[in-house]
Amino acid sequence: MGEASKLHIFLFPYMAHGHMIPTLDMAKLFSTKGAKSTILTTPLNAKILENPIKSFNQDNPGLEDITIHILHFPCTELGLPQGCENTDFFFSNPDLNTGDLNRKFLLSMEYFKEQLEQLLQTVKPDCLVANMFLPWATKLAEKFGVPRLVFHGTGYFSLCASHCLRLHKPYKSVASSSEPFVIPELPGDIVITEEQVIEKEEESVMGKFMKELRDSERSSFGVLVNSFHELEPAYSDFYKSSVAKRAWSIGPLSLGNREFKEKAERGKKASIDEHECLKWLDSKRRESVIYLSFGTMLSFNNEQLVEIAAGLDMSGHDFIWVVNKSGSQGDKEEWLPERFEEKMKGRGLIIRGWAPQVVILDHQAVGGFLTHCGWNSLLEGVASGLPMVTWPIGAEQFYNEKLVTQVLKTGVSVGVKKMMKPDGDFITKEKVEKAVREVMAGEEMRKRAKQLADMAKDAVREGGSSDIEVNRLMEELKLVRLQKEEEKRS
Ligand code: UDP
Repeated sequence: MGEASKLHIFLFPYMAHGHMIPTLDMAKLFSTKGAKSTILTTPLNAKILENPIKSFNQDNPGLEDITIHILHFPCTELGLPQGCENTDFFFSNPDLNTGDLNRKFLLSMEYFKEQLEQLLQTVKPDCLVANMFLPWATKLAEKFGVPRLVFHGTGYFSLCASHCLRLHKPYKSVASSSEPFVIPELPGDIVITEEQVIEKEEESVMGKFMKELRDSERSSFGVLVNSFHELEPAYSDFYKSSVAKRAWSIGPLSLGNREFKEKAERGKKASIDEHECLKWLDSKRRESVIYLSFGTMLSFNNEQLVEIAAGLDMSGHDFIWVVNKSGSQGDKEEWLPERFEEKMKGRGLIIRGWAPQVVILDHQAVGGFLTHCGWNSLLEGVASGLPMVTWPIGAEQFYNEKLVTQVLKTGVSVGVKKMMKPDGDFITKEKVEKAVREVMAGEEMRKRAKQLADMAKDAVREGGSSDIEVNRLMEELKLVRLQKEEEKRS
């Protein structure tokens, strides 16, 4: 294929690790399909992406390069603290008012409009994959005849659950916020409670913003979903027939990272040397370690962390626990029981900050995953064939939990009943112990989880379901380009 006929795709991720990581994976995928990708982001986020992109370009000389285009984002002018270019800035700092900053950050994305407009006009890419939080992108792209694809970052199940909850509002007719009900119309008779539902604030500023997102999605070219058909067939069919205009399943995106270095370099710089981590895991028996991580947007209070530590101790299992807190082992850390690390020496590894997650999940010594049910983590757990303990915190994580516990039946809930904000649940050490023991011993769950992992790998192989959908997408984009060229000629 000649240089001029190669597709050029713009990718504009939301500035949060949970969105940037799959976006880079997506750029790699497009590159393997012969398309050029340009990721649009700000200076500090570009720094996080630079190294993995450089390695990818160097290691794959035969593929199209991935490039970054840096956008201007004057934080202080926009009323944000200096350096606040990623949600990590406020989520990792307990002294800041996270709720307020999160809203302001989200709404300040509009600042990019003008820069995007200029870029679309001058570069004229073949497609713009813009995150759901950039609703204005659809109209802007349309102005220059560029198809806009939406990327939510979550799976079909939660997109469908959210649709059905919004449409039928079943939580309005329950006696109490903790009374279980079945989500109407959603396949599978899924049970949930009002306190786990996020679709309730339709009249608030955020509610209106969310409506704007849905409107822009309806008029877009379609939706890209980081999932694979075999994982959630009923929901992928439901979404495609009743919710979105069009959708393509292109995941699990994390599986595109085949080399050790690629896996280790995903996201932020890990707070532990990946080789040290592997050495620790190598010394463990097959499937004997439980890995715990709560994603990038949360830190628990000290009381809850002390309780988790005690529960892990009581479970008798070896563990790797990622705690979103910095601090050195020498300091007295209020969030750990007295002399905990000393007592757990050899049994438990605590990573303060950032872990090379997919490297850990892929290791044969890991036999279970305690997760907050962020979609990327959940799918990475599926791709590694792991049974899970589910501990949702907020956002759409309660919906993702139901997929694991009620549909896939590859995990058990730790017993969280409601969102962490405003008041959450306190989970006792006994509950942690029980859930960890159950998942580590659950042979049936493990068997099902392994089957799903095989299906995930098949989906991204040449001729697999996700591979076919990506190829189809590329063909459609080429067709759009041909049509445009013909229109210009006539
Ligand atoms: N992640 C990681 N190391 C960590 C924490 C997170 O590599 O210590 C990665 C994880 O593999 C996933 C992403 O960060 O790809 C988190 O996304 P997810 O949707 O699971 O959760 P969020 O942080 O967005 O709530």
